[in-house]
Formats: sequence, C-alpha cells, structure tokens
Amino acid sequence: MAIPANARQELLLAELRSAGCELSGQDLHARLRGGPAAMGLATVYRHLRQLQQRALVRCRHLPSGEALFAPTERDEHHLTCVDCGQTMALPHCPVHDLHLPDHALNGFQPLYHTLEFFGLCGHCRHRHGDDDT
Ligand SMILES: [Zn+2]
Ligand SMILES: [Zn+2]
Repeated sequence: MAIPANARQELLLAELRSAGCELSGQDLHARLRGGPAAMGLATVYRHLRQLQQRALVRCRHLPSGEALFAPTERDEHHLTCVDCGQTMALPHCPVHDLHLPDHALNGFQPLYHTLEFFGLCGHCRHRHGDDDT
C-alpha cells in the first residue's frame, strides 16, 4: 500500500500536533509503527526535512545531538543546560511581538523563528558552587 509523499507528511504533522511535547524521529517512527502509516526511519527523517522546508515543522538539537521536532505554529522555546542536558520550556515566547523593520527584511517574508537559550540549570549551578561567591 503506497501512501503519497504529501499524505505521509500530513500524517507526521498530525502526530506532532497531537503530541503535547516535541518528538524525535525515533519517537515518530515508534508511534507510527504497526499502524497504517508505518514508515521506515529514513523515510520519517526525509519527510521531516521536507516539512521543515515547507515551514511546517521546526527542529532543535539537544547537546546530546538528538534532534527534536515540533509544529511551527507551536511557538515554544527552551532553556537547555549545557552540563546535564536538561531542557525546560519557556512559558511565553519572548520575541513573539518582535518587529523586523522592512528595510532589514528586503522583501523577505518571515514564516517562523527558532530561539534557544543555553546555560546552567539551578541544580548544576549549585553543584559548581556558583552561589558561594
Ligand atoms: Zn544542569
Ligand atoms: Zn517564538
């Protein structure tokens, strides 16, 4: 049973939208496995790349190298600890109302953005003894 490429991408997008959190390619592969939309891992990644090119899906990389995917309409950003790798969602998008001046855009139409913060979480700061200064 051959599912057209676009339909596969819609299925992946629907899966990302229904998940409350970001998913890796592996997660998506596992969620679809055994169902009518099952596809190989390489196919999952190929369609995820195409969804990114269509500005429907955004991707971020954890310090471990793992790539996590989310629908672009979910305007969510994260704080990631460079030490323990723990990652935490920000309650609001800090640049949601950011206005890019026309002269800077030069005809470019922004569709979505990514934004990430890297640093040390509270736990790791304590462990490093940053507090006893
Ligand atoms: Zn940490
Ligand atoms: Zn944002």
